[in-house]
Amino acid sequence: MAKKFQNYVDGKWVDAISGKTFENRNPANWDEVVGTFPKSGKDDVEVAIRAARRAFEEWRLVPAPKRGDILKKVGDLMVEKKEELAKQMTREMGKVLAETRGDVQEGIDTAYYAASEGRRLFGHTVPSELPNKFNMAMRVPIGVAGIITPWNFPMAIPTWKIFPALVCGNTVVFKPASDTPATATALVEILAEAGVPPGVVNIVHGGGGEVGNAIVGHDEVDLVSFTGSTMVGKKISEMASATLKRVSLELGGKNAQMVMPDANMELALDGVLWGAFGTTGQRCTATSRLLLHEKIHDTFVAELVKRVEALKLGDGLKPGIDVGPCVNESQQQTVQSYVDIGLQQGAKVVAGGRIPKDGDLARGWFYRPTVFTGVQPDHRIAKEEIFGPVLSVIKFRTLEEGIRILNDTIYGLSSSLYTTNINDAYTAIRDIKAGITYINAPTIGAEAHMPFGGVKQTGNGHREGGWTVYDFFSEWKTVYVDYSGGLQRAQIDNYQD
Ligand code: NAD
Repeated sequence: MAKKFQNYVDGKWVDAISGKTFENRNPANWDEVVGTFPKSGKDDVEVAIRAARRAFEEWRLVPAPKRGDILKKVGDLMVEKKEELAKQMTREMGKVLAETRGDVQEGIDTAYYAASEGRRLFGHTVPSELPNKFNMAMRVPIGVAGIITPWNFPMAIPTWKIFPALVCGNTVVFKPASDTPATATALVEILAEAGVPPGVVNIVHGGGGEVGNAIVGHDEVDLVSFTGSTMVGKKISEMASATLKRVSLELGGKNAQMVMPDANMELALDGVLWGAFGTTGQRCTATSRLLLHEKIHDTFVAELVKRVEALKLGDGLKPGIDVGPCVNESQQQTVQSYVDIGLQQGAKVVAGGRIPKDGDLARGWFYRPTVFTGVQPDHRIAKEEIFGPVLSVIKFRTLEEGIRILNDTIYGLSSSLYTTNINDAYTAIRDIKAGITYINAPTIGAEAHMPFGGVKQTGNGHREGGWTVYDFFSEWKTVYVDYSGGLQRAQIDNYQD
Protein backbone atom coordinates (compact mmCIF):
# COMPACT_ATOMS: atom_id res chain seq x y z
CA MET A 1 0.00 0.00 0.00
CA ALA A 2 1.41 3.39 -1.00
CA LYS A 3 2.21 5.82 1.81
CA LYS A 4 -0.44 8.50 2.25
CA PHE A 5 0.78 12.10 2.58
CA GLN A 6 -1.26 15.14 3.69
CA ASN A 7 -1.33 18.92 3.62
CA TYR A 8 -0.11 20.81 6.69
CA VAL A 9 -2.42 23.70 7.52
CA ASP A 10 -2.60 25.70 10.73
CA GLY A 11 -0.41 23.16 12.52
CA LYS A 12 -2.51 20.11 11.53
CA TRP A 13 -1.98 17.35 8.93
CA VAL A 14 -5.13 17.24 6.78
CA ASP A 15 -6.50 15.78 3.53
CA ALA A 16 -7.73 17.97 0.68
CA ILE A 17 -11.25 19.24 1.48
CA SER A 18 -12.51 17.44 -1.65
CA GLY A 19 -10.86 14.18 -0.50
CA LYS A 20 -9.18 13.90 -3.93
CA THR A 21 -5.62 12.55 -4.25
CA PHE A 22 -2.86 12.10 -6.83
CA GLU A 23 -0.04 9.59 -7.08
CA ASN A 24 3.67 10.18 -7.39
CA ARG A 25 5.84 7.49 -9.02
CA ASN A 26 9.54 6.71 -9.20
CA PRO A 27 10.80 7.92 -12.62
CA ALA A 28 13.49 5.21 -12.66
CA ASN A 29 10.81 2.54 -12.22
CA TRP A 30 7.28 3.69 -12.83
CA ASP A 31 5.78 0.55 -11.24
CA GLU A 32 6.83 1.95 -7.88
CA VAL A 33 4.44 4.41 -6.24
CA VAL A 34 6.22 6.80 -3.87
CA GLY A 35 2.97 7.93 -2.26
CA THR A 36 -0.47 9.48 -2.64
CA PHE A 37 -0.93 13.19 -1.99
CA PRO A 38 -3.89 15.56 -1.54
CA LYS A 39 -5.13 17.00 -4.81
CA SER A 40 -6.04 20.32 -3.29
CA GLY A 41 -8.02 23.20 -4.73
CA LYS A 42 -8.98 26.80 -4.09
CA ASP A 43 -10.76 26.03 -0.80
CA ASP A 44 -7.67 24.40 0.71
CA VAL A 45 -5.60 27.43 -0.31
CA GLU A 46 -8.15 29.76 1.29
CA VAL A 47 -7.94 27.96 4.65
CA ALA A 48 -4.11 27.96 4.53
CA ILE A 49 -3.92 31.67 3.69
CA ARG A 50 -6.29 32.53 6.54
CA ALA A 51 -4.13 30.49 8.94
CA ALA A 52 -0.96 32.18 7.70
CA ARG A 53 -2.54 35.63 8.02
CA ARG A 54 -3.58 34.95 11.66
CA ALA A 55 -0.19 33.47 12.54
CA PHE A 56 1.61 36.49 11.05
CA GLU A 57 0.37 38.78 13.83
CA GLU A 58 2.36 36.82 16.43
CA TRP A 59 5.28 35.58 14.32
CA ARG A 60 6.24 39.11 13.24
CA LEU A 61 6.74 39.99 16.92
CA VAL A 62 9.06 37.06 17.69
CA PRO A 63 12.60 38.54 17.85
CA ALA A 64 14.53 37.73 14.68
CA PRO A 65 17.39 35.99 16.57
CA LYS A 66 14.80 33.64 18.11
CA ARG A 67 13.34 32.93 14.66
CA GLY A 68 16.93 32.22 13.63
CA ASP A 69 17.35 29.79 16.53
CA ILE A 70 14.48 27.70 15.15
CA LEU A 71 16.22 27.61 11.76
CA LYS A 72 19.44 26.49 13.44
CA LYS A 73 17.43 23.55 14.82
CA VAL A 74 16.00 22.94 11.32
CA GLY A 75 19.57 22.70 10.00
CA ASP A 76 20.54 20.27 12.77
CA LEU A 77 17.54 18.03 11.99
CA MET A 78 18.41 18.08 8.29
CA VAL A 79 21.94 16.96 9.13
CA GLU A 80 20.51 14.09 11.18
CA LYS A 81 18.13 13.02 8.41
CA LYS A 82 20.36 13.81 5.43
CA GLU A 83 20.68 10.25 4.09
CA GLU A 84 17.00 9.43 4.49
CA LEU A 85 15.99 12.70 2.78
CA ALA A 86 18.44 12.13 -0.08
CA LYS A 87 17.19 8.59 -0.74
CA GLN A 88 13.57 9.67 -0.78
CA MET A 89 14.45 12.47 -3.19
CA THR A 90 16.20 10.09 -5.59
CA ARG A 91 13.16 7.80 -5.50
CA GLU A 92 10.77 10.58 -6.37
CA MET A 93 12.70 12.57 -8.97
CA GLY A 94 15.54 10.35 -10.15
CA LYS A 95 18.83 12.23 -9.77
CA VAL A 96 21.69 10.13 -8.43
CA LEU A 97 22.26 9.83 -4.70
CA ALA A 98 25.47 11.91 -4.64
CA GLU A 99 23.47 14.77 -6.14
CA THR A 100 20.44 14.43 -3.87
CA ARG A 101 22.83 14.47 -0.89
CA GLY A 102 24.20 17.72 -2.32
CA ASP A 103 20.66 19.08 -2.66
CA VAL A 104 19.97 18.41 1.04
CA GLN A 105 23.37 19.89 1.97
CA GLU A 106 22.43 23.10 0.18
CA GLY A 107 19.33 23.23 2.39
CA ILE A 108 21.50 22.73 5.48
CA ASP A 109 23.87 25.52 4.41
CA THR A 110 20.87 27.77 3.78
CA ALA A 111 19.42 26.97 7.22
CA TYR A 112 22.63 27.91 9.04
CA TYR A 113 23.07 31.05 6.97
CA ALA A 114 19.45 32.05 7.72
CA ALA A 115 19.95 31.30 11.42
CA SER A 116 22.90 33.69 11.56
CA GLU A 117 21.05 36.32 9.52
CA GLY A 118 18.51 36.45 12.36
CA ARG A 119 21.26 38.20 14.34
CA ARG A 120 22.00 40.66 11.54
CA LEU A 121 19.11 41.80 9.31
CA PHE A 122 21.05 45.05 9.28
CA GLY A 123 19.40 48.36 8.70
CA HIS A 124 21.02 51.79 8.37
CA THR A 125 21.40 54.76 10.65
CA VAL A 126 22.10 57.90 8.66
CA PRO A 127 22.84 61.46 9.83
CA SER A 128 19.92 63.84 9.60
CA GLU A 129 20.24 67.14 7.77
CA LEU A 130 18.54 68.80 10.75
CA PRO A 131 19.80 69.17 14.34
CA ASN A 132 18.34 67.02 17.14
CA LYS A 133 16.86 64.55 14.72
CA PHE A 134 17.65 60.84 14.27
CA ASN A 135 17.23 58.95 10.99
CA MET A 136 17.17 55.22 10.45
CA ALA A 137 15.92 52.69 7.93
CA MET A 138 15.02 49.25 9.24
CA ARG A 139 13.70 45.99 7.85
CA VAL A 140 10.16 44.94 8.72
CA PRO A 141 8.25 41.77 7.84
CA ILE A 142 5.85 41.94 4.89
CA GLY A 143 3.10 39.39 5.57
CA VAL A 144 2.04 36.15 3.91
CA ALA A 145 4.51 34.74 1.38
CA GLY A 146 3.32 32.39 -1.38
CA ILE A 147 6.14 30.00 -2.27
CA ILE A 148 5.88 28.01 -5.54
CA THR A 149 8.73 25.69 -6.49
CA PRO A 150 9.88 23.30 -9.26
CA TRP A 151 10.89 19.66 -8.92
CA ASN A 152 14.57 19.67 -9.93
CA PHE A 153 15.95 20.91 -6.57
CA PRO A 154 13.11 19.77 -4.36
CA MET A 155 14.87 20.58 -1.09
CA ALA A 156 17.35 23.34 -1.92
CA ILE A 157 14.98 25.68 -3.76
CA PRO A 158 12.17 25.62 -1.15
CA THR A 159 14.77 26.31 1.57
CA TRP A 160 16.22 29.24 -0.42
CA LYS A 161 12.80 30.84 -0.15
CA ILE A 162 11.13 29.58 3.04
CA PHE A 163 14.08 30.11 5.40
CA PRO A 164 14.71 33.79 4.59
CA ALA A 165 10.94 34.39 4.49
CA LEU A 166 10.66 33.06 8.05
CA VAL A 167 13.72 34.82 9.46
CA CYS A 168 12.36 38.10 8.13
CA GLY A 169 9.12 37.46 10.06
CA ASN A 170 6.76 36.42 7.26
CA THR A 171 4.45 33.43 7.26
CA VAL A 172 4.31 30.96 4.38
CA VAL A 173 1.89 29.10 2.13
CA PHE A 174 4.01 26.62 0.17
CA LYS A 175 3.01 24.81 -3.03
CA PRO A 176 5.70 22.38 -4.16
CA ALA A 177 5.88 20.74 -7.59
CA SER A 178 3.61 17.72 -8.01
CA ASP A 179 6.62 15.62 -9.07
CA THR A 180 8.38 16.09 -5.70
CA PRO A 181 5.75 16.38 -2.99
CA ALA A 182 7.38 13.85 -0.61
CA THR A 183 10.60 15.85 -0.19
CA ALA A 184 8.58 19.02 0.33
CA THR A 185 6.48 17.29 3.00
CA ALA A 186 9.64 16.09 4.77
CA LEU A 187 10.90 19.67 4.87
CA VAL A 188 7.67 20.89 6.47
CA GLU A 189 7.77 18.03 8.99
CA ILE A 190 11.25 19.19 10.00
CA LEU A 191 10.12 22.82 10.33
CA ALA A 192 7.24 21.71 12.59
CA GLU A 193 9.53 19.47 14.66
CA ALA A 194 12.01 22.34 15.09
CA GLY A 195 9.29 24.46 16.68
CA VAL A 196 7.80 26.65 13.93
CA PRO A 197 4.40 27.60 15.46
CA PRO A 198 1.07 26.51 13.88
CA GLY A 199 0.02 28.53 10.84
CA VAL A 200 3.49 29.97 10.24
CA VAL A 201 4.30 27.41 7.53
CA ASN A 202 1.52 25.69 5.58
CA ILE A 203 1.92 23.26 2.69
CA VAL A 204 -0.83 22.73 0.13
CA HIS A 205 -0.21 20.04 -2.49
CA GLY A 206 -1.77 20.07 -5.93
CA GLY A 207 -1.55 21.34 -9.48
CA GLY A 208 -0.16 24.67 -10.62
CA GLY A 209 -3.40 25.65 -12.34
CA GLU A 210 -5.46 25.15 -9.17
CA VAL A 211 -3.29 25.64 -6.08
CA GLY A 212 -0.61 27.85 -7.66
CA ASN A 213 -3.13 30.15 -9.32
CA ALA A 214 -5.19 30.45 -6.16
CA ILE A 215 -2.10 31.58 -4.20
CA VAL A 216 -0.92 34.09 -6.78
CA GLY A 217 -4.39 35.59 -7.33
CA HIS A 218 -5.23 35.97 -3.63
CA ASP A 219 -5.23 39.50 -2.29
CA GLU A 220 -4.21 38.37 1.21
CA VAL A 221 -0.92 37.01 -0.17
CA ASP A 222 1.55 39.88 -0.01
CA LEU A 223 4.44 38.42 -1.97
CA VAL A 224 5.10 35.46 -4.25
CA SER A 225 8.45 33.79 -4.74
CA PHE A 226 8.39 31.53 -7.78
CA THR A 227 10.98 29.31 -9.44
CA GLY A 228 10.01 27.47 -12.61
CA SER A 229 9.65 27.90 -16.34
CA THR A 230 9.67 31.27 -18.09
CA MET A 231 6.24 30.51 -19.57
CA VAL A 232 4.61 30.02 -16.15
CA GLY A 233 6.64 32.91 -14.69
CA LYS A 234 5.10 35.29 -17.22
CA LYS A 235 1.57 34.12 -16.31
CA ILE A 236 2.34 34.62 -12.62
CA SER A 237 3.71 38.09 -13.24
CA GLU A 238 0.53 39.05 -15.10
CA MET A 239 -1.78 37.60 -12.49
CA ALA A 240 0.11 39.16 -9.57
CA SER A 241 -0.06 42.60 -11.14
CA ALA A 242 -3.80 42.76 -10.35
CA THR A 243 -2.96 43.16 -6.66
CA LEU A 244 0.49 44.72 -7.25
CA LYS A 245 2.07 42.14 -4.97
CA ARG A 246 5.79 41.74 -4.83
CA VAL A 247 6.97 38.90 -7.08
CA SER A 248 10.35 37.21 -7.42
CA LEU A 249 10.77 35.07 -10.53
CA GLU A 250 13.67 32.65 -11.13
CA LEU A 251 13.09 31.12 -14.55
CA GLY A 252 14.63 29.18 -17.43
CA GLY A 253 18.13 29.13 -18.85
CA LYS A 254 20.10 28.25 -21.98
CA ASN A 255 23.57 28.19 -20.49
CA ALA A 256 26.79 27.85 -22.43
CA GLN A 257 30.31 26.71 -21.69
CA MET A 258 32.95 28.28 -23.93
CA VAL A 259 36.37 26.70 -24.44
CA MET A 260 39.38 28.66 -25.75
CA PRO A 261 42.35 26.92 -27.43
CA ASP A 262 44.66 27.69 -24.48
CA ALA A 263 42.33 26.04 -21.94
CA ASN A 264 43.20 23.01 -19.85
CA MET A 265 41.32 20.47 -21.98
CA GLU A 266 40.98 17.80 -19.28
CA LEU A 267 39.41 20.34 -16.97
CA ALA A 268 37.08 21.59 -19.70
CA LEU A 269 35.99 18.02 -20.51
CA ASP A 270 35.26 17.23 -16.86
CA GLY A 271 33.37 20.51 -16.64
CA VAL A 272 31.11 19.95 -19.61
CA LEU A 273 30.30 16.34 -18.67
CA TRP A 274 29.18 17.45 -15.22
CA GLY A 275 27.51 20.64 -16.45
CA ALA A 276 25.55 19.03 -19.28
CA PHE A 277 24.59 15.64 -17.87
CA GLY A 278 24.50 16.12 -14.07
CA THR A 279 20.86 15.90 -12.94
CA THR A 280 20.19 14.48 -16.42
CA GLY A 281 20.52 18.02 -17.80
CA GLN A 282 17.47 19.06 -15.78
CA ARG A 283 19.03 22.04 -14.03
CA CYS A 284 18.20 25.65 -14.70
CA THR A 285 22.00 26.10 -14.88
CA ALA A 286 22.65 23.00 -17.04
CA THR A 287 25.18 23.41 -19.84
CA SER A 288 23.06 22.99 -22.92
CA ARG A 289 25.43 24.71 -25.37
CA LEU A 290 29.13 23.99 -25.74
CA LEU A 291 30.99 26.68 -27.66
CA LEU A 292 34.29 25.34 -28.97
CA HIS A 293 37.05 27.37 -30.61
CA GLU A 294 37.62 26.08 -34.15
CA LYS A 295 41.25 25.15 -33.33
CA ILE A 296 40.25 22.56 -30.75
CA HIS A 297 36.74 21.69 -31.96
CA ASP A 298 37.40 18.32 -33.59
CA THR A 299 39.77 16.86 -30.98
CA PHE A 300 37.56 18.06 -28.12
CA VAL A 301 34.42 16.54 -29.67
CA ALA A 302 36.16 13.20 -30.29
CA GLU A 303 37.22 12.93 -26.63
CA LEU A 304 33.86 14.19 -25.37
CA VAL A 305 31.90 11.58 -27.33
CA LYS A 306 33.99 8.76 -25.82
CA ARG A 307 33.25 10.01 -22.33
CA VAL A 308 29.55 10.62 -22.96
CA GLU A 309 29.11 7.12 -24.32
CA ALA A 310 30.74 5.71 -21.19
CA LEU A 311 28.25 7.42 -18.86
CA LYS A 312 26.20 4.81 -17.01
CA LEU A 313 22.43 5.32 -16.97
CA GLY A 314 20.21 3.84 -14.30
CA ASP A 315 18.47 4.04 -10.96
CA GLY A 316 20.29 6.75 -9.00
CA LEU A 317 20.07 4.72 -5.79
CA LYS A 318 22.42 2.12 -7.25
CA PRO A 319 26.19 2.58 -6.98
CA GLY A 320 28.15 3.45 -10.10
CA ILE A 321 25.30 5.24 -11.87
CA ASP A 322 26.21 8.58 -13.50
CA VAL A 323 22.90 9.70 -14.99
CA GLY A 324 19.34 9.09 -13.76
CA PRO A 325 16.07 9.30 -15.69
CA CYS A 326 14.07 12.30 -16.92
CA VAL A 327 11.57 13.30 -14.26
CA ASN A 328 8.49 12.02 -16.11
CA GLU A 329 7.20 10.78 -19.44
CA SER A 330 6.32 14.21 -20.74
CA GLN A 331 9.88 15.46 -20.10
CA GLN A 332 11.27 12.39 -21.89
CA GLN A 333 8.98 13.15 -24.85
CA THR A 334 10.07 16.81 -24.88
CA VAL A 335 13.69 15.67 -25.11
CA GLN A 336 12.85 13.31 -27.98
CA SER A 337 10.98 16.06 -29.82
CA TYR A 338 13.98 18.43 -29.54
CA VAL A 339 16.30 15.71 -30.84
CA ASP A 340 13.97 15.35 -33.84
CA ILE A 341 13.95 19.14 -34.35
CA GLY A 342 17.77 19.24 -34.19
CA LEU A 343 18.05 16.59 -36.87
CA GLN A 344 15.43 18.27 -39.08
CA GLN A 345 17.32 21.57 -38.88
CA GLY A 346 20.54 19.89 -40.04
CA ALA A 347 22.54 19.23 -36.86
CA LYS A 348 24.22 15.85 -36.39
CA VAL A 349 23.83 13.46 -33.44
CA VAL A 350 27.29 12.18 -32.45
CA ALA A 351 26.27 10.51 -29.18
CA GLY A 352 22.96 9.25 -27.77
CA GLY A 353 19.85 10.58 -29.47
CA ARG A 354 17.47 7.85 -28.36
CA ILE A 355 15.35 6.36 -25.60
CA PRO A 356 17.08 3.22 -24.26
CA LYS A 357 14.95 0.11 -24.27
CA ASP A 358 17.37 -2.36 -22.70
CA GLY A 359 16.76 -4.16 -19.38
CA ASP A 360 15.62 -2.12 -16.39
CA LEU A 361 15.99 1.11 -18.35
CA ALA A 362 12.78 0.29 -20.23
CA ARG A 363 10.85 0.68 -16.95
CA GLY A 364 11.87 4.31 -16.39
CA TRP A 365 11.86 7.63 -18.26
CA PHE A 366 15.48 7.41 -19.39
CA TYR A 367 17.13 9.20 -22.31
CA ARG A 368 20.66 8.54 -23.58
CA PRO A 369 23.02 11.50 -22.99
CA THR A 370 23.06 13.22 -26.37
CA VAL A 371 25.56 15.41 -28.19
CA PHE A 372 24.79 17.38 -31.37
CA THR A 373 27.52 18.86 -33.56
CA GLY A 374 27.10 21.20 -36.53
CA VAL A 375 24.64 23.30 -34.55
CA GLN A 376 24.11 26.83 -35.88
CA PRO A 377 23.40 29.66 -33.43
CA ASP A 378 19.89 30.12 -34.89
CA HIS A 379 18.87 26.46 -34.60
CA ARG A 380 16.07 25.85 -32.13
CA ILE A 381 18.26 23.45 -30.10
CA ALA A 382 20.70 26.35 -29.68
CA LYS A 383 18.01 28.77 -28.53
CA GLU A 384 15.29 26.99 -26.56
CA GLU A 385 15.52 25.42 -23.13
CA ILE A 386 15.28 21.61 -23.53
CA PHE A 387 15.73 20.63 -19.89
CA GLY A 388 17.22 17.23 -20.59
CA PRO A 389 20.50 15.48 -21.39
CA VAL A 390 21.12 17.21 -24.73
CA LEU A 391 24.24 19.23 -25.55
CA SER A 392 24.50 21.41 -28.66
CA VAL A 393 28.07 22.03 -29.86
CA ILE A 394 28.71 25.28 -31.75
CA LYS A 395 32.00 26.32 -33.36
CA PHE A 396 33.43 29.86 -33.03
CA ARG A 397 36.58 31.62 -34.30
CA THR A 398 37.34 34.48 -31.87
CA LEU A 399 36.58 35.35 -28.26
CA GLU A 400 34.31 38.18 -29.42
CA GLU A 401 32.34 35.90 -31.74
CA GLY A 402 32.03 33.27 -28.98
CA ILE A 403 30.68 35.81 -26.50
CA ARG A 404 28.26 37.14 -29.13
CA ILE A 405 26.88 33.62 -29.70
CA LEU A 406 26.79 32.94 -25.95
CA ASN A 407 24.73 36.10 -25.41
CA ASP A 408 22.36 35.40 -28.31
CA THR A 409 19.51 33.99 -26.25
CA ILE A 410 16.46 35.31 -24.39
CA TYR A 411 17.89 33.80 -21.20
CA GLY A 412 20.81 34.88 -18.99
CA LEU A 413 21.35 32.59 -16.04
CA SER A 414 24.74 30.87 -15.98
CA SER A 415 27.81 30.90 -18.21
CA SER A 416 31.33 29.50 -18.25
CA LEU A 417 34.65 30.19 -19.92
CA TYR A 418 37.65 27.87 -19.93
CA THR A 419 40.90 29.71 -20.61
CA THR A 420 44.33 30.29 -19.12
CA ASN A 421 44.51 33.80 -20.57
CA ILE A 422 43.67 36.34 -17.88
CA ASN A 423 42.83 39.08 -20.38
CA ASP A 424 40.26 36.87 -22.10
CA ALA A 425 38.84 35.83 -18.73
CA TYR A 426 38.25 39.43 -17.63
CA THR A 427 36.90 40.46 -21.04
CA ALA A 428 34.35 37.63 -20.74
CA ILE A 429 33.45 38.56 -17.15
CA ARG A 430 32.73 42.09 -18.43
CA ASP A 431 30.86 41.20 -21.62
CA ILE A 432 28.87 38.04 -20.91
CA LYS A 433 25.23 38.85 -20.19
CA ALA A 434 24.35 36.43 -17.41
CA GLY A 435 23.66 36.49 -13.69
CA ILE A 436 26.46 33.99 -13.06
CA THR A 437 29.84 33.56 -14.80
CA TYR A 438 32.29 30.80 -13.98
CA ILE A 439 35.92 30.83 -15.08
CA ASN A 440 37.43 27.36 -15.44
CA ALA A 441 34.41 25.72 -13.82
CA PRO A 442 31.15 24.38 -15.26
CA THR A 443 27.90 26.36 -15.44
CA ILE A 444 26.50 24.55 -12.40
CA GLY A 445 27.58 24.74 -8.75
CA ALA A 446 25.99 27.55 -6.78
CA GLU A 447 27.00 28.26 -3.18
CA ALA A 448 24.25 29.06 -0.70
CA HIS A 449 25.83 32.28 0.59
CA MET A 450 26.20 33.88 -2.87
CA PRO A 451 23.50 35.68 -4.90
CA PHE A 452 21.80 33.43 -7.44
CA GLY A 453 19.68 34.44 -10.40
CA GLY A 454 19.72 35.61 -13.98
CA VAL A 455 19.20 38.49 -16.36
CA LYS A 456 16.87 38.92 -19.35
CA GLN A 457 13.95 36.43 -19.39
CA THR A 458 15.55 34.29 -16.69
CA GLY A 459 13.95 36.49 -14.07
CA ASN A 460 12.67 39.85 -12.98
CA GLY A 461 15.76 41.27 -11.33
CA HIS A 462 15.65 39.64 -7.90
CA ARG A 463 18.27 37.30 -6.53
CA GLU A 464 18.05 34.27 -4.28
CA GLY A 465 20.79 33.11 -1.96
CA GLY A 466 23.25 35.03 0.18
CA TRP A 467 22.41 38.43 1.59
CA THR A 468 20.44 39.60 -1.45
CA VAL A 469 17.33 37.46 -0.87
CA TYR A 470 16.69 39.27 2.43
CA ASP A 471 15.84 42.37 0.44
CA PHE A 472 13.01 40.51 -1.22
CA PHE A 473 11.50 39.12 1.97
CA SER A 474 11.58 42.34 4.01
CA GLU A 475 10.19 45.82 3.58
CA TRP A 476 12.24 48.95 4.33
CA LYS A 477 10.70 51.25 6.88
CA THR A 478 12.25 54.71 7.19
CA VAL A 479 12.01 56.28 10.65
CA TYR A 480 12.70 59.89 11.68
CA VAL A 481 12.78 60.81 15.38
CA ASP A 482 12.75 64.55 15.98
CA TYR A 483 13.84 65.43 19.52
CA SER A 484 14.30 69.16 18.93
CA GLY A 485 10.99 70.12 20.53
CA GLY A 486 10.09 72.33 17.56
CA LEU A 487 8.73 71.97 14.04
CA GLN A 488 11.69 71.46 11.74
CA ARG A 489 11.20 71.49 7.98
CA ALA A 490 13.81 69.75 5.86
CA GLN A 491 14.60 71.47 2.53
CA ILE A 492 12.95 74.71 3.83
CA ASP A 493 14.53 75.73 7.14
CA ASN A 494 18.04 74.86 5.97
CA TYR A 495 17.93 76.81 2.74
CA GLN A 496 16.23 80.13 3.54
CA ASP A 497 17.71 83.13 1.72
P1 NAD B 1 7.00 24.78 -14.11
O1 NAD B 1 7.01 26.21 -14.47
O2 NAD B 1 6.22 23.85 -14.94
O3 NAD B 1 6.43 24.60 -12.61
C1 NAD B 1 7.01 25.25 -11.50
C2 NAD B 1 5.97 25.33 -10.39
O4 NAD B 1 4.89 26.19 -10.81
C3 NAD B 1 5.31 23.99 -10.04
O5 NAD B 1 5.07 23.92 -8.66
C4 NAD B 1 4.00 24.07 -10.81
O6 NAD B 1 2.98 23.25 -10.26
C5 NAD B 1 3.65 25.55 -10.64
N1 NAD B 1 2.73 26.09 -11.66
C6 NAD B 1 2.49 25.63 -12.91
N2 NAD B 1 1.56 26.41 -13.52
C7 NAD B 1 1.21 27.37 -12.64
C8 NAD B 1 0.31 28.47 -12.68
N3 NAD B 1 -0.43 28.75 -13.75
N4 NAD B 1 0.21 29.28 -11.59
C9 NAD B 1 0.97 29.05 -10.49
N5 NAD B 1 1.83 28.00 -10.38
C10 NAD B 1 1.95 27.18 -11.45
O7 NAD B 1 8.52 24.33 -13.99
P2 NAD B 1 9.13 22.89 -13.66
O8 NAD B 1 8.91 21.99 -14.83
O9 NAD B 1 8.67 22.43 -12.32
O10 NAD B 1 10.69 23.24 -13.53
C11 NAD B 1 11.52 23.40 -14.63
C12 NAD B 1 11.72 24.86 -14.97
O11 NAD B 1 12.18 25.56 -13.82
C13 NAD B 1 12.81 25.06 -16.02
O12 NAD B 1 12.40 26.05 -16.92
C14 NAD B 1 14.01 25.54 -15.20
O13 NAD B 1 14.95 26.30 -15.91
C15 NAD B 1 13.32 26.33 -14.15
N6 NAD B 1 14.18 26.49 -12.98
C16 NAD B 1 14.73 27.72 -12.76
C17 NAD B 1 15.59 27.91 -11.68
C18 NAD B 1 16.20 29.26 -11.40
O14 NAD B 1 16.63 29.49 -10.27
N7 NAD B 1 16.28 30.15 -12.36
C19 NAD B 1 15.87 26.83 -10.83
C20 NAD B 1 15.29 25.58 -11.10
C21 NAD B 1 14.42 25.44 -12.17
